[in-house]
Amino acid sequence: MAGEPQADCLFCKIIAKEIPATVVRESETTLAFRDINPQAPTHVLVIPKVHHPDAASLAAAEPQIAADVLREAGEIAFEEGVAESGYRIVFNTGSGAGQTVFHAHAHVLGGRGLNWPPG
Ligand code: 5GP
Ligand code: ZN
Repeated sequence: MAGEPQADCLFCKIIAKEIPATVVRESETTLAFRDINPQAPTHVLVIPKVHHPDAASLAAAEPQIAADVLREAGEIAFEEGVAESGYRIVFNTGSGAGQTVFHAHAHVLGGRGLNWPPG
């Protein structure tokens, strides 16, 4: 069923605490933890606790939880001290765009100059 945990999903395993992660924030519907391979001084992943393969699928199925992910991303930027200098919220969608984990997640990146357009 849509939203149910998937046995073969890395981020479902992190939610289930089967794989450790450095958690920075948790809410009823979301979990945020540091990326294992950071691309910026601040690089935090925000995931919904429900499983959907990408951000648009999440928003279509459970729009309130998609909003929760965005709100948490903003709170993390503030807590990490990058809200004022600027930060980026990225949802890679599809392998051609660099998505490697097919459980919706926001990258919150900041603490360095961020080029536009991104590569
Ligand atoms: P994507 O490439 O799908 O947009 O992002 C997946 C992200 O998950 C990558 O930035 C990658 O470094 C991160 N990642 C992959 N495996 C792990 C892990 O086991 N723990 C953590 N904290 N991050 C991971
Ligand atoms: Zn999952």
